[in-house]
Amino acid sequence: MNRVKLFILTFVVLMFAASSIISTQRHTQVTDILTVSMKTVGWAASELELEMLKFMQALRLTALNDMKAEYLQLRFELLWSRVDVLSVGEETREFRNQTGATEFLQDIKQYLVELEPELLSLKMGDQNAIRIVQELKPFQTQVREFNVKSFSGDKAWGGLKQIHSLQNDANIFFIGLLLSGCILVLLVIRESAINRKQALHDSLTGLANRHFFQNSLEKTIAHSRRNNSRTAVHMIDMNEFKEINDRLGHAVGDALLQEVASRLTQSVCLSDVVARLGGDEFGIIQKNITSSEECVQLAQHIHEQINCEMNVHGYRLYPNVSIGISVFPDDAEHPDKLLNNADTAMYCAKNNDDVYYRLFEQEMNDSVLRYRILAESLQTALDHDQIQQVYQPIICLKTKRIVAVEALLRWHHEQYGYISPLEVVSIAEEAGLAEKLNEWVLLKACSQNMSWRKAGLPLIQVSVNISPAMYTRYDLVGVVSRTLSMTGLPADQLIIEVTEDTTMQDIESSPDILQKLRRLGVELALDDFGTGYSSLSHLKKMPFQKLKIDKVFIQELNNAPKDMSFIRTIINLAHGLGMQVVAEGIEVIEHYEDLYLEGCEYGQGYLFYKPAPSHEIECILQENLNTIDSRAL
Ligand code: C2E
Ligand code: MG
Ligand code: MG
Repeated sequence: MNRVKLFILTFVVLMFAASSIISTQRHTQVTDILTVSMKTVGWAASELELEMLKFMQALRLTALNDMKAEYLQLRFELLWSRVDVLSVGEETREFRNQTGATEFLQDIKQYLVELEPELLSLKMGDQNAIRIVQELKPFQTQVREFNVKSFSGDKAWGGLKQIHSLQNDANIFFIGLLLSGCILVLLVIRESAINRKQALHDSLTGLANRHFFQNSLEKTIAHSRRNNSRTAVHMIDMNEFKEINDRLGHAVGDALLQEVASRLTQSVCLSDVVARLGGDEFGIIQKNITSSEECVQLAQHIHEQINCEMNVHGYRLYPNVSIGISVFPDDAEHPDKLLNNADTAMYCAKNNDDVYYRLFEQEMNDSVLRYRILAESLQTALDHDQIQQVYQPIICLKTKRIVAVEALLRWHHEQYGYISPLEVVSIAEEAGLAEKLNEWVLLKACSQNMSWRKAGLPLIQVSVNISPAMYTRYDLVGVVSRTLSMTGLPADQLIIEVTEDTTMQDIESSPDILQKLRRLGVELALDDFGTGYSSLSHLKKMPFQKLKIDKVFIQELNNAPKDMSFIRTIINLAHGLGMQVVAEGIEVIEHYEDLYLEGCEYGQGYLFYKPAPSHEIECILQENLNTIDSRAL
């Protein structure tokens, strides 16, 4: 809640309290007026009785010859005035409202009117005065009764009690109003505190959020500038968090983030700031460092705390993070620049499998710039068909015939030159171009194969590499079936290569996708076998027809001939699971012979053919038709 809202609410509450006080005051005033009026009526009635008694006393004294006529006359006048007071006016209506009161007033007036002439002629010592006293007695008794009954009796007390109870009610109401007002103010203050916390904190982890982090960084840097001290910013990003989230659900993902947040908090000093900057990205402000060695130590500590087994909702997870570090004032003077640099360093750490943290270096900005330029160029290159596809033959080791070609990407960038296909694939995945790239690769390979077929060349299969994102994020089955029907290539002439890592990454959905692809009729090959972490049970479930032994194992045969036993095991395993084996990277004839003898069905490598553009493959297929050049073998 902002200050204006808080001010308005407080103002309303104050108004509420003030009006309650004022209305209560008014109520009290009305009560007072009522009480005064009742008292006035009571007083007037008692005065009438008093005047009556005084008049009667004056009459008695007149009879005893002890009263002057003027004084008797005065008492008479006063008695009249008391009767008049009770006969008219709003204040004495209460009196007149009593049963018999009006009649009483009329009777006494009538009597006084009749008495007046006699009174004027009344002499001192006149015994008629005593008679008049006797005549007045019933009136006096009646007045007393009225007095006792109405004003000093039950009704008067009842009225007064009612007024007092009203007053008490009003007081309770007033206290209630004050209390509720106070509670309201407290609630408003509390809510505003919560809102302020929410505005500055991440609700999932309880850590500071990006806004708070940036504010703190600005303050810390201003402080460092004044004190000539150094401050480091660590950008921490979880690797493969999205996969965990997608595969195991958001509850597990959230719990993992909370666990990581708590471990990060435990890893830093009290004065440092830890924040969740968004998604799976965290930031740390490390204050008052003396050397970059301290940053490295913190990064190592964080790595130890996080890159280990974590039990989250019953799942054993192995999270890992990439950390980028940038130091004020060495790497940047301005907070935004410092953050950007830490981000760049983190990005470089992420793209390098050998390190988990990187300290920022100015050259890194060049690599980020390179990535941005390449990502933009790739989009254009795909739109304008500026990417090439080359094809590397796959040979049947027994017949020495070309049975298939593997389609491989080639991209020559005008500024950066040759860009390896692995980098192209990773840029495409990060820049959201994976689907477009894979569609292009499939279409190009299938149409190329169809044109060779139409040209009457030997029928061969085409093997296509598919990038990991296609299995998790896009409709690969749809893309493959559309491509097949667009190009007219028979499904069994297409081989889809899936890397071992891809199948492991998507352990839940891969079998399903692969089964669907199989049902389309395409063949499936497990690529780069031996470099990933396939479990045997996992492998058993996968519907692969071919297993491609990664070239590193073939090439290691040169250095360690014992590795043949390793390759033999792979071949036996593949055969046991009903798969045929393709050996990649065969460069020397000895390896060809050894592999053939071990029962490996197919081979691919520079010994036979290097990857070549389509027109060269056409010549190879034409010249050579079905057998490998005898010079090669
Ligand atoms: P890969 O699928 O294992 O492809 C085989 C790689 O080994 C190719 O490298 C090929 O040129 C190389 N190679 C073949 N025989 C030999 C040999 O005798 N000696 C040596 N040293 N190398 C040999 P390339 O073309 O650089 O491709 C590298 C990787 O990039 C591929 O490995 C594949 O994973 C990926 N890739 C290539 N094209 C595509 C594509 O169109 N889509 C996707 N998703 N990935 C692709
Ligand atoms: Mg391949
Ligand atoms: Mg391979």
